[in-house]
Amino acid sequence: MHDAAWVNANLATMRDGYGALADGVIAATAGKISWVGARGDWRDKARAEHDARGAWITPGLVDCHTHLVYAGNRAHEFELRLQGASYEDIARAGGGIVSTVQATRAASEEDLFKLARKRVQQWLDEGAALVEIKSGYGLDRVTELRMLRVARRLAGELAVKTTFLGAHAVPPEYRGRADDYIAFVCDEVLPAAAKEGLVDAVDAFCERIAFDVPQTTRLLEKARSLGLPVKLHADQLSDYGGAALAARHGALSADHMEHSNESGIAAMSGEGTVAVLLPGAYYFLRETRLPPIDALRRHGVPIALATDHNPGSSPVSSPLLILNMACTLFRLTPEEALAGMTRHAARALGMQASHGTLETGKAADFALWEVGSPAELAYAVGANPCVARVRAGRALR
Ligand SMILES: [Zn+2]
Repeated sequence: MHDAAWVNANLATMRDGYGALADGVIAATAGKISWVGARGDWRDKARAEHDARGAWITPGLVDCHTHLVYAGNRAHEFELRLQGASYEDIARAGGGIVSTVQATRAASEEDLFKLARKRVQQWLDEGAALVEIKSGYGLDRVTELRMLRVARRLAGELAVKTTFLGAHAVPPEYRGRADDYIAFVCDEVLPAAAKEGLVDAVDAFCERIAFDVPQTTRLLEKARSLGLPVKLHADQLSDYGGAALAARHGALSADHMEHSNESGIAAMSGEGTVAVLLPGAYYFLRETRLPPIDALRRHGVPIALATDHNPGSSPVSSPLLILNMACTLFRLTPEEALAGMTRHAARALGMQASHGTLETGKAADFALWEVGSPAELAYAVGANPCVARVRAGRALR
């Protein structure tokens, strides 16, 4: 006897391609998927039987790269830029990442929580089951830990993985002393966050305008010494060797990758490192250099997608819009896009054992969509066909 079953459903199990199964049944017991298959093979019983009314059921969406916890926003900066202000003008007016750092440092834990919880509702409405949230707007010990605590508190109707991104930027008080700042992060901030159990992975912004390869290496080695998996903001603005660096450290993922070279991609393939592509930032910054999609395909590197939600370069609160952008801007197929926000995104978080596909034994976290085919999820712009979510086997809407 299963706890609950959904019948009269079309299933996109996402095990391989869409893993489509017309007229299927999915059952849950004790929060986990306990049966998936064709209705004709369903002989069991469930205490509660739900009629999916022909909806498509997919694994709950996974957003594997966000900066969801912060205070303030950068609309003013956006407006200034469109009025013709230069980068220097904006920096002089207190804009840029520094303004988000100042606002975030000034906010209480409760304020940060309320702001982020309101944002997360949009992810829930669009069928998300698992979201990664990074720190990186504190750049000091107190605020970095506060951000991670807030991120952890957001878990509930969806699962949350927290990533320490203390090496996001050099804070104003360390200007011109990036080595000293990395030492501070490695010796004080990261160990304190890890000791409190707030860190699922460690990330760094490896780029000419942020941290160089030796500085990034130092942090990644510290992370590994603490037993924490690593990720990397890699090759977003230039070919900085980020993909190879990520592979060398056995990273879960290398993210952005617009400028990654082929040998770095080949190295990622050998390590099983996932490429996380972020079309929202590409769109918002009006970038023109496409990520090396064909090379990723050729080398069999799994391609994940994420919103990269953040106030500066990707104020995008819609996982569904990212599916569309991945197809229109990056020319992924709708099937690749959906795999990028389910199966491959779960792998980018090391969560492939519990999320990303509809399989017996995994978390019963899935979404019901009123669509005629899974391709519609990537096709429509601004529509939200999510009609219900299931979290740990419980129907939520
Ligand atoms: Zn990011």
